Amino acid sequence: MAEDILGRCRAIVGDAHVITDEATMAPFMADWRGRYSGRGLAVVLPSDTAQVAAIVAACAAARVPIVPQGGRTGLVMGSVPDTSGAAIVLSLRRLNRIRAIDPLNRTMTVEAGCILADVQAAAGEAGMLYPLSLAAEGSCTIGGNLSTNAGGTAVLRYGNTRELCLGLEVVNAQGEVWDGLRGLRKDNTGYALRELFIGAEGTLGVITAAVLKLYPAPRAALTALVALDSPRQAVELLGLLQARCGAALTGFELMSAFCLDLVAAQFPDLPRPFADRHPQYALVELSSNESDAHAHGLLESSIGEALEAGVARDAVVATSNKQALDLWRLREHIPLAQAAAGKNIKHDISLAVSRIPGFIARADAALQQAFPGCQPVTFGHLGDGNLHYNVAPPAGESHEAFLGHQAAVNRIVHDLVADCGGSISAEHGIGMLKREELARYKSPVELGMMRAIKAALDPLGIMNPGKIL
Ligand code: FAD
Repeated sequence: MAEDILGRCRAIVGDAHVITDEATMAPFMADWRGRYSGRGLAVVLPSDTAQVAAIVAACAAARVPIVPQGGRTGLVMGSVPDTSGAAIVLSLRRLNRIRAIDPLNRTMTVEAGCILADVQAAAGEAGMLYPLSLAAEGSCTIGGNLSTNAGGTAVLRYGNTRELCLGLEVVNAQGEVWDGLRGLRKDNTGYALRELFIGAEGTLGVITAAVLKLYPAPRAALTALVALDSPRQAVELLGLLQARCGAALTGFELMSAFCLDLVAAQFPDLPRPFADRHPQYALVELSSNESDAHAHGLLESSIGEALEAGVARDAVVATSNKQALDLWRLREHIPLAQAAAGKNIKHDISLAVSRIPGFIARADAALQQAFPGCQPVTFGHLGDGNLHYNVAPPAGESHEAFLGHQAAVNRIVHDLVADCGGSISAEHGIGMLKREELARYKSPVELGMMRAIKAALDPLGIMNPGKIL
């Protein structure tokens, strides 16, 4: 039976694009964080939508599970198979064409395997902006971004990937092609099918192409780092900047002092913008379609007002592109510094912005009581209510040993998130990693509706089984 389906795949995509030897398959089976590796029957690399449809139809006929895979940068073990060895990994990497750019409609139509950075560059060459931006942009694909509804650093202004998509082309679980590549901003013709496939983590069908929204490229972008007393002050500063700068405020990231200590220890060459150590920092980005001088004036007057009102302690505004990049590098190096220091217990949560200071205070206190000396590594897209609330062991203790407390730490953090009306997965999705947590925190009504959708669209259960549900 395995030979039968592999023969069909070879007939569809050619021998060279069906990988079955263990060594070549290994990278496709491994989770990005290197904490998990699955097993698969084969890795199949189709080159166009028709080939994807034929592969899915063959798998449906043979009841062979399919794991769609893009750049494999997902952080919840969604794009790798389980250990049964029964599934085919369907890599979309060869579907990497930019099909069209429509400057007047401000859209581009791209295939699912396009790398995000290539899509940004193509938009830039056309004089426009595709605003999705995240640290994995050199490797992640549009299909993966859509399937995880990725967020990133510009959600405050432009929204998540869901808000950046106007149309999809999907191969459903029966191997039929749904051409929903409409670049329409208004289309009230029944159920919003597009929305079902976005964020579905490959459990309902395979996304093969998408129509993405483009924006005018900003004429000026400014970055500032603001030193703060507390998360409460960060939320107040966010409110002040939103009131003064409106849609020009494109980024607002929170970083605790401990995060910057970690970065300084692991990357001593990166600049330290302040002589003093402050409890919290906000990285602020302003984009404007007006002149540089206008953007400078707006940012400086707003931050000046915040300093006068006691909503900030100190601030540096970047005066060159290099300085701005250096400030962003501080933020982007936090995950790298964490990884270099040792594994953490990670959480990707969201809350109403107003509830974040209370949540941090309660979570810090509860963790100190349960694990005295443990070190929260708190940073994230505060403007979107999204925190990466990670927990490192007490200084000098083994990171590996501390991972043994993962279940207890998760329970403290996620129970508090639920109590504050938040979400246990803001950006990264559920995959296999948070499946049990999802079952714990979603209501039976919500889970029941999700199962009904899955059963209706994938009755054979072949699309990325064991993920989400
Ligand atoms: P993969 O990892 O290959 O797949 C992810 C999921 O999508 C899997 O369930 C897979 O089955 C499914 N899938 C992939 N392609 C398709 C398709 N064509 N059709 C159907 N299903 C498909 N996320 C954020 O939201 N914000 C961030 O700021 C952010 N920063 C990150 C930084 C780093 C360094 C890393 C490693 C990850 C980060 N992520 C972030 C995680 C993020 O989800 C991914 O980087 C990205 O969106 C996934 O794209 P991918 O192509 O790698 O997908």
